[in-house]
Amino acid sequence: MRLKNNIQFLLILVILISCQKKKTSSKNTNKEEEAWSYSGESGPEHWAELEKNSECGGKFQSPINIISINAKIDSQLNSLDIHYEKSTKIHSVKNNGHSIQYNFEKGDYINYKNERFNLKQIHFHESSEHTIDGVRYPLVIHMVHANSTGEYLVLAIMAKEGKTSIPFEFLESFLPLEKGEVKKINKPFNLNHNLPLNRGYYSYTGSLTTPPCTEGVKWFIFKEPITISVEQVNILKTLMPVNNYRKEQPLNGRKIQMTE
Ligand SMILES: [Zn+2]
Repeated sequence: MRLKNNIQFLLILVILISCQKKKTSSKNTNKEEEAWSYSGESGPEHWAELEKNSECGGKFQSPINIISINAKIDSQLNSLDIHYEKSTKIHSVKNNGHSIQYNFEKGDYINYKNERFNLKQIHFHESSEHTIDGVRYPLVIHMVHANSTGEYLVLAIMAKEGKTSIPFEFLESFLPLEKGEVKKINKPFNLNHNLPLNRGYYSYTGSLTTPPCTEGVKWFIFKEPITISVEQVNILKTLMPVNNYRKEQPLNGRKIQMTE
C-alpha cells in the first residue's frame, strides 16, 4: 500500500514538473517574438541571427529601391481587382511596439490570378520602406492580404505631406495607444478613400519586411502617393519606434513590372 502511494506521489511530481517546464518554454517563445527592433543589437542587421527560423537572411527580401527606368512595362497587367466595401469593419487597433496596426474583419479582398486574398490588417512605417528612384516618402501604409493557404499579397501606398486626409482623421481618432495596448473599434471603414486616384503600380515578388521575413510575398506599390498633413504624420511618428523601416535589400536578379 505504501509503495503504491509513493508511486502515485512520484507520478504527480513528474506531471507537475513537466507542466512547469512547458510554461517556461512558452514564455521564452513570447520573449523571442519581442526580441527584434529597429535599432542597435536587435536591429534589422541582426534579424537573421536573432530569428533563427526566419527567412530574414534570404535572397529575395523586401523592401527594395524601385528604379523606374528598369521596371518593365507590362501591358498585360490589369488594374488590381480590388473589392473594398464601405461596410467592412475595423475590428481593433493595436500598438504592437513596432507599428500601429488596424485589424480588419472579413469583407475586403483582392482577386489576383483567380485567387482571393482577404485583407487582414493595415499598418504604417515612417519613413517609407520601398523607395522609388531613391525617393523615400515620409510615410507608407501597408495593406496586408492573405489567401486560404497563407500566401501574402501586400499593397503599399506612399503618403506625402500636404492636405489633411479625412480617412486618417478617423483612423487617428482612436489614438494614442500605449505600447502593447489594444482598442476595440468595431466600426465600418471604407478603404477606397485611402487609395490614390491613379491606380498604376509597380509589382515584384519579395518578402514581409519584419521577422519572420517570409518570402513569396506579392508586392504592389502604387506609383502615386496620397496626401496627409504633417500633423497626421507626427501623430503616428510619436507612437512608433523612430525610423521603423528596414533598409533596402538586394534585388538579386528579380524583375520589377509596372503598369503603363
Ligand atoms: Zn509593413
